[in-house]
Amino acid sequence: MPDDDDREDPVTTTVSTATPHPTEDAVREAVIAWRRHLHQHPEVAFHEERTAAFVADTLASFGTLEITRPTPTSVVARLTGSRTGRVLAMRADIDALPIDERNTHDFVSRHPGVMHACGHDGHTAMMLGAAKVLCARRSELAGEVRFIFQHAEELNPGGAEELVKAGVMDGVDMIIGAHLWLPMPYGQVGVRSGALMASPDNFVITITGSGGHAAIPHETTDSIAIAAQVITNLQHIVARNVDPLASAVVSVTRIAGGTTYNVIPGQVELAGTVRTFDPALRARIPELMQRVVGGTTAANGATFTFEWNADYRPVINDEKASELLRRAVVRALGEGVLVEATPTMGGEDFSAYQQKVPGSFFFIGARNEERGITNPHHHECFDLDERALDSGTRIFVAAAMEMLG
Ligand SMILES: [Zn+2]
Ligand SMILES: [Zn+2]
Repeated sequence: MPDDDDREDPVTTTVSTATPHPTEDAVREAVIAWRRHLHQHPEVAFHEERTAAFVADTLASFGTLEITRPTPTSVVARLTGSRTGRVLAMRADIDALPIDERNTHDFVSRHPGVMHACGHDGHTAMMLGAAKVLCARRSELAGEVRFIFQHAEELNPGGAEELVKAGVMDGVDMIIGAHLWLPMPYGQVGVRSGALMASPDNFVITITGSGGHAAIPHETTDSIAIAAQVITNLQHIVARNVDPLASAVVSVTRIAGGTTYNVIPGQVELAGTVRTFDPALRARIPELMQRVVGGTTAANGATFTFEWNADYRPVINDEKASELLRRAVVRALGEGVLVEATPTMGGEDFSAYQQKVPGSFFFIGARNEERGITNPHHHECFDLDERALDSGTRIFVAAAMEMLG
């Protein structure tokens, strides 16, 4: 990346430095400016060097925080209140995606092929805003607020697992985290206790028969025809083996085999994803898949290999942490915005923190039909209603005040 393509603009945030005791109102413009700056300078998972430096420098300008760098591209800041008490952690993910941005607004990505297309620029900015406001309200806090700016949410094995191993959850009583959410309109905030996001596991199946001339099929073991049966039979797992009141997805998303019209290939590779919420069901599905693939291939005289790649655990929200969030949402924005979040089969490595302490992950509506802000996450024209950033800042501040105030 040539330097001139990637020049740093100073982020002008007049209100943020001029106000001795900033409120959410006072940091609102700064949060948008930070988000736009991050949007212009996206970095993919495990390479968030400049993003982390920007976060650390911005946090340092608040003056009150103890800042550490548990891994090369993550930042943790601790705000110690004026009295002892519990520890509330808040997490923002900071990584972008390998997508070429097609937006035309005036803060598009300056890094070709890299884009904040999931809203993590917004997550980072709104938590910086919360940190700034809470630094000014330190005297009202009993305990500690721990701000976790996490790298690599988008790429298995994920940054959360690494941070947990580095000890960032030590001493933490509860954790909260948010996703700016395009399926929901701006003005709604979704909280839910229990299952919210699925395990995004994936698999690779190799079916080995024996190849030959397409006109002499009886002298082959046709891996293409067998793969077709395998795909069809795999559909029976969700349809016939999973409790209809439970949820699961088994999707074959890639078929690779064959080179031309008159050759039956000896091998076909299938790949896909499995999504579940329930850990017991999650453990059972790969066993069922192997039984189906084994039976189908054996019936046709072929063999198979089965590779299972366990990804993030499901996001299962704690009741008490979700209750804290509900109170925080109402305190910050009023009763009218709070809705029950709809679970999604998407995955999130926030679940790694939930293995350690009670936690809840919630959705902040960022869709705006009137302004055409409707593209899904990971779309090359993804955008969000920036008013949602202020909602996030306010909810994080309110959660800290509810628990430690
Ligand atoms: Zn994403
Ligand atoms: Zn995301």
